[in-house]
Amino acid sequence: MNRLAVLNRDRWTCLMPVCVHPCTRSINPALNHTRSPWAPTVDHIIQRSKGGTDRQGNLRAAHRVCNEIAALRRHRRRHVRRSLAPNLVPDDPIAVLGGQFPGWLAS
Ligand SMILES: [Zn+2]
Repeated sequence: MNRLAVLNRDRWTCLMPVCVHPCTRSINPALNHTRSPWAPTVDHIIQRSKGGTDRQGNLRAAHRVCNEIAALRRHRRRHVRRSLAPNLVPDDPIAVLGGQFPGWLAS
């Protein structure tokens, strides 16, 4: 797959339903190949473990942090009974980041 082609097709806009970016879901190309939580990644809409492919139709642009939040939620659905650990991954994604946006995350 061509990662940059997916990001360009999606106009560097995070398409994750859980997107927590404070500024209209935009992804800054300058963060490419950085360790920033807002760095661009490519998400599999249907996970490879469920038969999803690496074709562009199954890929979408995503912030790293949004991609990781979605992965945590999948993990919770698969492995953790809510009644046992209801707060392991809060439904509010902001809570995942500690309850508020620290300044270093906003840039
Ligand atoms: Zn996002």
